Amino acid sequence: MLRTYAGSCHCGAVRFEADIDLSEGTYRCNCSICAKARAWFALAPPERFRLLSGADAQSEYQWAPAGRPGSNLHYRFCKNCGIRTAGYGEHGPNGGPFYFIAVAALDDADADDLAASIRYLDGRHDRFDRAPEDVRAM
Ligand SMILES: [Zn+2]
Repeated sequence: MLRTYAGSCHCGAVRFEADIDLSEGTYRCNCSICAKARAWFALAPPERFRLLSGADAQSEYQWAPAGRPGSNLHYRFCKNCGIRTAGYGEHGPNGGPFYFIAVAALDDADADDLAASIRYLDGRHDRFDRAPEDVRAM
């Protein structure tokens, strides 16, 4: 069920709302950047994400995987406290722009719903259709 969640960074400078259906899944990935961040994200089209405050408090990071010309993903985080909020990408799973929302930044999600939503992605091997063999430390 689509629900509106409140999200924020740790210091409170960045606040947002997102309409997410947790039963559609949230993602843990093992690619080089997701592994370092122990990333956990939910996907949402632009019309389901609203930044309420802190546009100026955010910075963003981009990187290009080896052998690729660039990345369309903008990893956004609070400049003050370092917490990831919601990144932005130009080409999502459905072809269009999307947000990848840091699940850890959601303030009011139910623990059972979150636990049931987790899907593992083998991004390290560019396989987003399967889970890695070992997910214990993801
Ligand atoms: Zn902050």
